[in-house]
Amino acid sequence: MQGFSRRGTMAVACGRSRIGGQSGILNRGVVTLARKIVIRGGIVSNDSDVFQADVVIDGEQIAALTSDASDVDADEVIDASDKLVVPGGIDAHTHFKDPDPKEIEGFYYGSMGAVAGGISSVVEMPQATPTATEAGHIAEKIKLGEQKSLVDFALWGAAVNQDLESIEEMIDAGIVGVKSFMAGSSPGFPRITDASMYDVFALLADSDIPYGLHAENDELLQDGIRTLQEAGENDPLAHADSRPPIVEAEAINRAVFFAEQTGGRAYICHTSTVSGLEIIRNAKERGVRVEVETCPQYLALDQDDLIRLGPFGRCAPAIRERDEVELLWSYVQDGTMDTIASDHCGYTIESKEAGANNIWEAPLGLSGIQTMLPAMLDEFLHKRDLDFTDFVRVTSTNPAKIFGSYPRKGTLRPGSDADIAIYDLNAPWTVNGKDMLHKNKWSPFEGKKIGVRVIRTLVRGATMYEFNGDHVVHGQAGHGRFIDREYGVGG
Ligand SMILES: [Zn+2]
Repeated sequence: MQGFSRRGTMAVACGRSRIGGQSGILNRGVVTLARKIVIRGGIVSNDSDVFQADVVIDGEQIAALTSDASDVDADEVIDASDKLVVPGGIDAHTHFKDPDPKEIEGFYYGSMGAVAGGISSVVEMPQATPTATEAGHIAEKIKLGEQKSLVDFALWGAAVNQDLESIEEMIDAGIVGVKSFMAGSSPGFPRITDASMYDVFALLADSDIPYGLHAENDELLQDGIRTLQEAGENDPLAHADSRPPIVEAEAINRAVFFAEQTGGRAYICHTSTVSGLEIIRNAKERGVRVEVETCPQYLALDQDDLIRLGPFGRCAPAIRERDEVELLWSYVQDGTMDTIASDHCGYTIESKEAGANNIWEAPLGLSGIQTMLPAMLDEFLHKRDLDFTDFVRVTSTNPAKIFGSYPRKGTLRPGSDADIAIYDLNAPWTVNGKDMLHKNKWSPFEGKKIGVRVIRTLVRGATMYEFNGDHVVHGQAGHGRFIDREYGVGG
């Protein structure tokens, strides 16, 4: 564990009378009394500072960070002595699949896994049935999320070569990003043509809306799959061999070039290769608007795990060799990597098992929302000697900035939403898929030992999850609120 400085009072937003008194707030048409909570004695980290402080919460927001809140008349005091207190994770890449198919995942169970994993907001991808390609689909997802989600949520909209007007209407409906596949994924989500991709970049060029890309070269990919299948290769490594690093790097190169030519803002999803990251780092140095995401499966798992997991390790891009995994960390360390997201896609156990003897039969995707942040914090602290601030930057602050909710989210400061995760830094546990709270109870981290544990997650001042030896979900479906790009400045 690393040191931290005692800095005394960081800031006090509210006068003493308000901290001590009972302020009425108007919440969805009902006058309620704001609860006051003090999180006492924790090690608080934002993306730039680590300090010891008491966190005072008034209703849904942080009222103050102070060296001593013992005189606050609190409704609840949470003892966080020796615990890490950080902004709740913002998972920029989830597949909760609402409205369908329900057997894979949905806002309710998906957000249960989220809060058990220290995550307080998600940015939900448009893959579902139907694929979210128009404003009506977005309105439906907002309705379902507000009924079912425990965490706050923003939405991606899909660009699938449809007319640009549909994309503009989704932007008006509140999406925070536009997503395309550069390689074929499924019949319901056709790959973007280069011509359409150029048009979408140009459409978004005058905005801050990121254009999220699944960057794999379609021709190289299809040829790789065909070649290995024709050779009769159907073991887990054949999947990795079918999409070597150049498949990803070529597509990243093209996406970055389009961003540079149009002035658009590219967001490269689930990046897994050094060659791709070199292209991105160089582009950033030239001033190209590009941000980059990776996932725990590319930072903590390798091809030994792919062999061990078989169909339960099949995802796109494929899990890489250990040398590549180790080198990826240098881009986290130097700040090139902007976000770590789960790409949680929790297929049913039955559908994954279909690939037990033939890897090509397994669907592409991993369930990872509950294990992501503990596994990553463990790597940051115990294996990589990185700082708490680095962890907060890539798991909360940067996603809040990229998707427009900063500083209401992504930081702990007076006036910010009280979205908070508390970690026990010395609480080893072994991952067991049966402990997962998301819908389908399996994990690619099965059997892995993790040294830290989420012990509490708050979403806008409400404790949604607590670990007291058992998982306890306090939160109600429908607590989650839709957040658009205005959220960070307004609200
Ligand atoms: Zn995905």
